[in-house]
Amino acid sequence: METLEFQAEARQLLQLMVHSIYSNKDIFLRELISNASDALDKVRLAGFQDKELAVDTDDLRIELEADKDARTLTVRDNGIGMSRAEVVDLIGTIAKSGTAELLRKLKESKENSADLIGQFGVGFYASFMVADKVTLVTRKAGETGGTKWESAGEGTYTIEAADDAPQGTSVILHLKPEDAEDHLFDYTAEYKLREIIRRYSDFITWPVRLKVEKTEKSEEGETTTTTEFETVNSMKALWARSKDEATEEEYKEFYRHISHDWTDPLEIIQMQAEGTFEYQALLFIPAHAPLDLFMRESKRGVQLYVKRVFIMDDCEALMPEYLRFVKGVVDAQDLSLNVSREILQQDRQIQLMRRRLVKKVLSTVKALDAEKYRTFWQEFGAAVKEGLVNDFDNRDAILEISAFASTNSADELTSLKDYVGRMKDGQEHIYYLTGASRSIIENSPHMEAFKAKGYEVLILTDAVDEMWASSVPEFDGKQFQSIAKGQVDLDSDADTAAKSEEFADLLTWMTEALKDTVKEVRLSSRLTTSPACIVGDANDLTPTLEKMYRAMGQ
Ligand code: ADP
Ligand code: MG
Repeated sequence: METLEFQAEARQLLQLMVHSIYSNKDIFLRELISNASDALDKVRLAGFQDKELAVDTDDLRIELEADKDARTLTVRDNGIGMSRAEVVDLIGTIAKSGTAELLRKLKESKENSADLIGQFGVGFYASFMVADKVTLVTRKAGETGGTKWESAGEGTYTIEAADDAPQGTSVILHLKPEDAEDHLFDYTAEYKLREIIRRYSDFITWPVRLKVEKTEKSEEGETTTTTEFETVNSMKALWARSKDEATEEEYKEFYRHISHDWTDPLEIIQMQAEGTFEYQALLFIPAHAPLDLFMRESKRGVQLYVKRVFIMDDCEALMPEYLRFVKGVVDAQDLSLNVSREILQQDRQIQLMRRRLVKKVLSTVKALDAEKYRTFWQEFGAAVKEGLVNDFDNRDAILEISAFASTNSADELTSLKDYVGRMKDGQEHIYYLTGASRSIIENSPHMEAFKAKGYEVLILTDAVDEMWASSVPEFDGKQFQSIAKGQVDLDSDADTAAKSEEFADLLTWMTEALKDTVKEVRLSSRLTTSPACIVGDANDLTPTLEKMYRAMGQ
């Protein structure tokens, strides 16, 4: 037997669990059942993909067994299991991206830690809300020896060989003695377990069987008590049901199961396509951006099923990167169970399906009410705008659902449609300026003449704004024009010509004096209070983009 230490971040999260920051401890069971369900999905897939592998895929199931006297609750599955190395890796450390970020935020804000951690999802560690000791026995499908892991949720855990372990994983919770008298936390009571499974795990597509006692009276009046396993969940795949066959609460639970996000989704999207290529999709737009939305390892949130069989997570063939925050399930009827990521990328039907999913997501966003839309854009706008650069087909649709800060209002964003509606007579372009912050942009000398003349300027402060603004040609026939680039003349031509003549000598002298630094010195009507400013050529990069490229070493 070996004693090992939890990784530092894992220890910190465990502390939060041991001192239970949630009022609702019931959710530990949902986490364990969710893990068991994933493990069953994986073993079935392994069985399909590798017929040689000695895996047992008969009678896949999740079992729950309570022992009132010993005060234990066991959650057992005969799924994929874990090797010893995997136990150390998966249970002893937290590999999830965004962990460091989460812990930093948790340290900063004491009050809403439950909210924050809810967005993250605590998984297996939730066991320590109800147990003061957890034993996990597991054997990886296809391997011979098993592993036993045990911990009290403090700094360390023990690990040893368990040769007789069956395929799959058993988690034995030694329930906290201080909860023994509290019926709210009686996790050995049949009614309690039934209720939790029904509430949180009904849609799980594997049988969740609860060990129950049955008492029978014979004709002679003798009572006999037997125990048996009874399936408690309905096992109906939620995406295959029509909207009126499922409740709002069921959708929300399902969302939690697949997203590990404990806050309710902002919007639910259901699609059913019949015909030559049949599929069902159940998609969710979250209410919060995940912590890793802008990290390189950020995953895409859509799972692929084929005829109810889980095939893969993070299916990049189904959702473009700029919609990576969309979560959900797509179940296709006419694909092979052996389909690979490479095949998916090239499959024409999949491409068609993806196109329809994207259109549906964009049109759903367009139809959101004002309040939901505001939340959506605040959380995901910066990601969605990446689509302006990458998704040529949907550029117009993305422009339509985009919102921008502008000089028109200090706190309200504007749509492009509204901007165009406010354009002055004779204004041909949609003006914008990019920069690091609103105040920098507002105080830029480039802004002066536009302010003085009352022209509205979009204030673009996201990193991605540089990219799309210089590559998207127009909206509604109006070109985008950076006010930091080229000749933006607000006075009439005759006016400028007359003045240029007046200042011709000065301009020649200045051009000569500054010839190593600038291309040309010219008169401009763009300034009102500053004496001079530097502008780029119309085809030049904007200053921010120039800085970005320079930083990237180009
Ligand atoms: P998550 O489910 O979000 O990945 P968890 O903390 O719930 O996080 O679980 C961590 C990992 O441990 C899982 O991703 C899985 O690889 C492994 N694991 C947990 N429970 C089981 C199980 N019953 N069978 C096999 N692997 C499991
Ligand atoms: Mg989990």
